[in-house]
Amino acid sequence: MRREPIVLFDNGAHQCLMFDDLVSGDGVQSNQFLIIDHDEQLLLDPGGDLTYTPLSLELSKFISVQDLTYIFASHQDPDIIASLDKWLLHTRAKVICSKLWARFLPHLTANYLAISHGISTYDRIIALPDRGQSIPLGKCQLKAVPAHFLHSVGNFQIYDPLSKILFSGDMGASLVEDATPVADFAAHLPHMEGFHKRYMASNKICRLWAAMVRQMDVEMIVPQHGRPFVGQEMISAFLYWIENLECGLDLMGPQDYQLPR
Ligand code: FE
Repeated sequence: MRREPIVLFDNGAHQCLMFDDLVSGDGVQSNQFLIIDHDEQLLLDPGGDLTYTPLSLELSKFISVQDLTYIFASHQDPDIIASLDKWLLHTRAKVICSKLWARFLPHLTANYLAISHGISTYDRIIALPDRGQSIPLGKCQLKAVPAHFLHSVGNFQIYDPLSKILFSGDMGASLVEDATPVADFAAHLPHMEGFHKRYMASNKICRLWAAMVRQMDVEMIVPQHGRPFVGQEMISAFLYWIENLECGLDLMGPQDYQLPR
């Protein structure tokens, strides 16, 4: 029996829903998000084939799926946007992603879309400039916030000024089958550490990102995998940890670049 989505925010006209149990089988646990403002909706990182059917069924309980306004892809990975062709075919949504990936996304969509359905993938894509931009949704303005190299070279997060939620993608992600807020930061660390050390590009980028987030009014950091950070104490703990983390390039040396035996 599938659980109801987790309601992260709801003031009647504006809602943020989190679907946390749609991936089954071999895929890594992942969270999908729907932001609704008045009569428009944005679906964040809908995922691949594993999630398409259960997610579209769940969405249909809340919205008219074919009228979905936007799909936001934080980056280009399979767990983010591999089901693109189905979403293009079954909804009218525009797809928002980094300009770095706009030319590559058509590789995810089969020729049948263009030939049988007259759908041009490229025409449905809104390509974000490197510094991001506002995204009008209903009567609010979401922000596509730069998160390049965290981990993808062209990477964005969504900040929702109304709910004060930062949808942080892979930043803060943890490999656990649990989507309840982190309660004990030290105990949670082992579930994040290896992933951030290998997937995040460098400490410089982590510090730039943390400095930006400290300037923002954030009440929740909600990653795409695992557990969110809620409240100032947990958010500060995460920001302090990540801006002091050596990762990616910092840890690579000649020993990592040897011809395998
Ligand atoms: Fe990824």
